[in-house]
Amino acid sequence: MDVAIIGAGPVGATVAALAAASGLSIGVFEARTGPSGDKRTLALSHASRRLLEEALAWPAPSATPIRSIHISQKGGPGRTLIDAAEQGLPALGYTVAYAALESALDARLREAGVEVAYGQSCEAIALEPDRATVRFASGREASARLLVLADGGANSTKIPGIAYTGKDYDQLAVTAAVRTDREHGGRAYERFTAEGPAALLPVDDRYALVWTESPDAARRLLALDDASFLAALQAHFGDRAGRFLSVSSRAAFPLRLRAVNTPVALRTAIVGNAAQALHPIAGQGLNLGLRDAAELAAAISATPPEALGGDAMLGAYRDARRRDATRGVAFTDFLVSAFADARRIPTWGRGLALTALDLLPGARRVLAERMIRGSPAP
Ligand SMILES: Cc1cc2nc3c(=O)[nH]c(=O)nc-3n(C[C@H](O)[C@H](O)[C@H](O)COP(=O)(O)OP(=O)(O)OC[C@H]3O[C@@H](n4cnc5c(N)ncnc54)[C@H](O)[C@@H]3O)c2cc1C
Repeated sequence: MDVAIIGAGPVGATVAALAAASGLSIGVFEARTGPSGDKRTLALSHASRRLLEEALAWPAPSATPIRSIHISQKGGPGRTLIDAAEQGLPALGYTVAYAALESALDARLREAGVEVAYGQSCEAIALEPDRATVRFASGREASARLLVLADGGANSTKIPGIAYTGKDYDQLAVTAAVRTDREHGGRAYERFTAEGPAALLPVDDRYALVWTESPDAARRLLALDDASFLAALQAHFGDRAGRFLSVSSRAAFPLRLRAVNTPVALRTAIVGNAAQALHPIAGQGLNLGLRDAAELAAAISATPPEALGGDAMLGAYRDARRRDATRGVAFTDFLVSAFADARRIPTWGRGLALTALDLLPGARRVLAERMIRGSPAP
């Protein structure tokens, strides 16, 4: 086989979908035996939409446009509004359900004739100068010139020379679907609080909530009955999005920052969350991962089969991704620390920053650029 991809999450499946036209033999190996049932809602940029359209896997019917983002802080002054019309765009981004994206990619891979082997959990990896061999828990083995690790980070440290740096934010993200008594009109809300950021993303006729809290507080929130949860949310979020009426599908995710020291090793490229897992505060994780996927798929398609997975191809991939990945990690970590850690920037400083953003179209454009394209204009 030419390319073996471990993990059929959104990033691994996108590498396969984009590289399918190359005519190479590509195998995708996924530990799950069926759909993930993941309840996450993802905010994706314009650039990510274009990329998924190119992969013929944009889940159009279930995507909701984000027309504006309202940013504020609890217990402090200042707020800013980033508006799509001001940026000359029909939408700042889109929300899609993780499950809808997963099934669009799965359908596309079937249509393109790329085999996804489900129930194949990678257990061991052997790297040699001319190929990579993976052994799965099922006993199956696969060898390829190029190994793509897109497993969210489960196996990277089995690779010699790969180490993670990062931190545990000691927070959980509580996610849920909530309804209010007002139509969302395509507006997303991001609210910074001393306990961590909270966001409401418009999706269909409701909002997806991402509420970060300390692990103890998050567990208490998960245990509340619906009425008490809604009351706690109202107190936390205020009434800017209206009165919260109902909640369903509560779940929790631990939040950490993890980034590999290098996204390449012998015969191996590491992409998506396996390369960098970010706090969801700015909705950057998958957007960044999809850019990994696009760059790697382009390299796969442009490299002659005999040079696939060679040092030249992997070195060029590493260099092409360095700046974007480093900035994505730093930007997200800065936001988490600046808005959560009262000692770093006092409340009035954050209020000033938000007000300045609201008054200065230039500054707002820089922030919007980051949200829309992933990196500020050079
Ligand atoms: C609460 C929350 C909200 C988020 N919101 C956003 C957002 O708004 N916008 C955004 O851009 N990002 C967001 N993210 C980040 C986003 O979810 C991730 O960046 C994205 O899912 C990464 O995709 P991936 O394919 O790299 O990894 P994953 O989604 O983790 O997929 C990895 C796949 O590998 C498989 N796998 C694992 N181990 C093995 C193994 N041993 N063998 C074979 N297969 C294996 C898994 O089953 C899975 O299918 C959010 C994250 C969280 C937690």
